[in-house]
Amino acid sequence: MLLDRALVRMLPAVPRPVVRRLSERYIAGSQLADACRVVEELNAGGRKATIDVLGEEVTRRDDALALVDEYIHVFETIRGQGLDSNVSVKPTGLGLKLDRDFARENIGRIVRCAEERGNFVRIDMEDASTTSETLAVYRELRAEGLERVGVVLQARLHRTLGDVRALADLGPSVRVCKGIYLEPEDIAHQAFDDIRGNFVRTMEELLEVGGTLAIATHDEWLVDQALELVERHGLSPDDYEFQMLLGVRERLGDRLVAAGHRLRIYVPYGRRWYEYSMRRLQENPKIATHIARDTVGRLVPGGNGR
Ligand SMILES: Cc1cc2nc3c(=O)[nH]c(=O)nc-3n(C[C@H](O)[C@H](O)[C@H](O)COP(=O)(O)OP(=O)(O)OC[C@H]3O[C@@H](n4cnc5c(N)ncnc54)[C@H](O)[C@@H]3O)c2cc1C
Repeated sequence: MLLDRALVRMLPAVPRPVVRRLSERYIAGSQLADACRVVEELNAGGRKATIDVLGEEVTRRDDALALVDEYIHVFETIRGQGLDSNVSVKPTGLGLKLDRDFARENIGRIVRCAEERGNFVRIDMEDASTTSETLAVYRELRAEGLERVGVVLQARLHRTLGDVRALADLGPSVRVCKGIYLEPEDIAHQAFDDIRGNFVRTMEELLEVGGTLAIATHDEWLVDQALELVERHGLSPDDYEFQMLLGVRERLGDRLVAAGHRLRIYVPYGRRWYEYSMRRLQENPKIATHIARDTVGRLVPGGNGR
């Protein structure tokens, strides 16, 4: 455990090829065709998907515009191949930090493309410096009459219950998650149980205000809380969904699917894999073992390294 925490701090020093190898399970590949293959398999196993094109914090407008084009291509391919998938987008990949209105226009183009095809766009939530702007963009898109779009709220943040109430008039579609970005204590819960508690309160509040709930967690305790909640509210499996990340706790996913719940898997692909991979490795409880195994594998012929 201590070794795990020490290694998490050292992860930025781990060579990129090692990070790449260790994070293979979390990423479909570098091309859309890789993502489509993974989605096809997931669909065959009774799971839906959400495709994410990797890329965040762009510093050039051209990169944001290229990402919009890629998402439009993703929608065409989803339809062409009959895949059961929507998409997730990161606001800073679409220029949020360059120019808010430019990012809204870019996200709007992707959502309009989804509307034309009866599909859906989830706007991921990034670190706390982007929360207000992201929610404002969401509100503006809804004010334009766009419906096939949802947001993400992070149970880690103190503001989240207030955000649910502020969005109530929109009947929002919200993915509730713990939140991957570590934030300071004046704005965020730090204790594991406080984050869990706020996750449950956020789900309750969202259902109270008539929102649509996507439950994004691999925490079995929270999954059980969510199951109790949807039962108490008399929801049918079409009214909510569970969401999990590619490569994480697949057996928990199997159990949900076998019990008739809807499960959507987050499928990232693309060449800009590094930041996403680092976040996933940092929350892998067995990271020390994996790094050790990888290192031994490379040093010892016939070891586990690939
Ligand atoms: C579909 C989906 C979308 C998300 N979107 C966002 C978003 O937009 N913004 C945001 O801030 N966060 C997002 N997250 C990340 C989320 O906030 C958490 O960081 C992450 O899911 C881990 O929290 P947990 O609820 O699974 O609980 P944890 O307590 O962290 O994990 C529960 C258990 O799951 C397993 N586990 C979790 N992560 C890993 C891993 N990487 N490798 C191996 N095992 C693991 C472990 O067994 C762990 O004990 C998303 C998560 C999901 C599932």
